[in-house]
Amino acid sequence: MMNIKEVSRSIAIKIVDFTLNVHHYSQGPISMEKGLADFIEDKLEQIQKEAVLHGGFEGIRPTIDQVWMQTAVMLSKRSTCERLQVGCVITDMDKRTVLGNGYNGGAKGQSNKCDPSDSCGHLHAEVNALIASGSHDRLKVMYVTTLPCAQCAKAIVNSGFMGVYYLNEHEKQGSKDILKAAGINLIKV
Ligand SMILES: [Zn+2]
Ligand SMILES: [Zn+2]
Repeated sequence: MMNIKEVSRSIAIKIVDFTLNVHHYSQGPISMEKGLADFIEDKLEQIQKEAVLHGGFEGIRPTIDQVWMQTAVMLSKRSTCERLQVGCVITDMDKRTVLGNGYNGGAKGQSNKCDPSDSCGHLHAEVNALIASGSHDRLKVMYVTTLPCAQCAKAIVNSGFMGVYYLNEHEKQGSKDILKAAGINLIKV
């Protein structure tokens, strides 16, 4: 497994090397700059792949919130939505028992393609996870890869949640006020 400290160090060494040799015109500063950018981009791609596929790095112990968010990220990869892939995990209050999970998609056994309509017609990951959890009488915690929409926020309020963790912002922020008004903690991880 990739060691994040070694990767960070290799990037740092490359940057120092570039800084010290930037006036060394035999190679040309522009090609060196591109070389540095390509090197860092390549390393960052490796880091992203490691984070997505293996859920962490050697020597770094993930928090339980990161574990479930990572699971939600993996679930989002199952979505066939062409606009936005979203994954969701619902746990018990102790964050140990997984009650349900889901990703955005079509109706069971039917087409998984987006409708050509404006709203794409896909059922949202949060709702699919809620259906899978089958639990409306106990307090829960949600991990979702994108800030919920206002509609899902209402479903979250009505089904009993203590907290919602999310990874990516969404241009529509309407859910924030809905969750806040219901006293549900909204935490960006
Ligand atoms: Zn879609
Ligand atoms: Zn939604």
